[in-house]
Amino acid sequence: MHHQLDDCIFCQIAQGNAPASKIHEDELTLTMLDIFPATPGHVLIISKAHFDDIFTASPQVLAQIAINSSKIAKALQAVTQADGLGIYQLNKAAAGQTVFHYHMHLIPQFTNQNIGIHSKQAADPQQLEAMAQQLRQALNE
Ligand code: 5GP
Ligand code: ZN
Repeated sequence: MHHQLDDCIFCQIAQGNAPASKIHEDELTLTMLDIFPATPGHVLIISKAHFDDIFTASPQVLAQIAINSSKIAKALQAVTQADGLGIYQLNKAAAGQTVFHYHMHLIPQFTNQNIGIHSKQAADPQQLEAMAQQLRQALNE
């Protein structure tokens, strides 16, 4: 595939060269669980091709990620029963971006629970896979 960076972890995942708890894949995007979840069900939608951020991402990728976000939002709602859903998208270090490959965060949120977008606690891989399986099923219903 073209437009990949060798030293980019999200490019490695998009190419199938690094593992991820995948939920959905299409020509332009890949949806997976964040390995440092802010809350259970923290999802990332990434582009398959490498774009640093919103300033360089193609309109097609931005549109597909927006379309997919509403479907994933409903699956997250069904599975987590969260009170709300935070959607975050950080561009450049000054805004808190830490992986410089375009992506959107979907984070289930609960009343009176204050969270940061970035957790320091890695998820248990088995719990991630169980969550991914529930979300894949909810997406297909
Ligand atoms: P950013 O700060 O760039 O908006 O978010 C990057 C996110 O990617 C963070 O929430 C971080 O936990 C997540 N992340 C970093 N490396 C990996 C990885 O290898 N796999 C997955 N699934 N998520 C990752
Ligand atoms: Zn990349």
